[in-house]
Amino acid sequence: MIHHSGGSFGTIEFLQKVHRERQANDPIDAIPYHYIIGNGNGLREGEVASDWRQELGIWGAHVSGRNTARNMWGIGICLIGNYEMYPVPELQYNSLVSLTKSLMSEYNISVHNVTGHGHIEGEQTKCPGKLFPMEQFKRDIA
Ligand SMILES: [Zn+2]
Repeated sequence: MIHHSGGSFGTIEFLQKVHRERQANDPIDAIPYHYIIGNGNGLREGEVASDWRQELGIWGAHVSGRNTARNMWGIGICLIGNYEMYPVPELQYNSLVSLTKSLMSEYNISVHNVTGHGHIEGEQTKCPGKLFPMEQFKRDIA
């Protein structure tokens, strides 16, 4: 599942801090996603980073309680940036395509099970932003 961070800066440490503030009851003190992809501000553009949530294969905390199964079984990828406001940088996009394709083949995930956060029924969010090129992305990972 694809997300954007909504902010223009992002590192593992920064997102851990944000998660600690926003979901203070989460016993998992880690980023809510399995992977983040940098935009050149904090991480290099296209750089993929993870913390122990991904390393230990722990469930995610990136969708609402209305879609608990998505948190339990889904893989959360977050692009640093705000794609309501500006387009996805090319190196970051390319890195997302290759990471998604490798996860799809590793875990046998079909294209129709790859989606954006706000495209899931019950989620009230614009994430990953109206300028995220979902149609093109689906073609690029197919
Ligand atoms: Zn999201």
